[in-house]
Amino acid sequence: MKKFLKKLKSFFRVKRFLCDSCKYDYRGACSRPERPNATECSDYKSR
Ligand code: SF4
Repeated sequence: MKKFLKKLKSFFRVKRFLCDSCKYDYRGACSRPERPNATECSDYKSR
């Protein structure tokens, strides 16, 4: 059960922040205040 919860948590951690996999996740490309922890973003573009 513990293992399962750990897995579940890490899954959500990976999914949680869009910026982690966004093309614009660096200063100069993105000036959104929610970077680097955006969970929803209309400018998101996959790398
Ligand atoms: S465009 Fe959105 S998802 Fe991409 S880095 Fe900026 S805030 Fe994050």
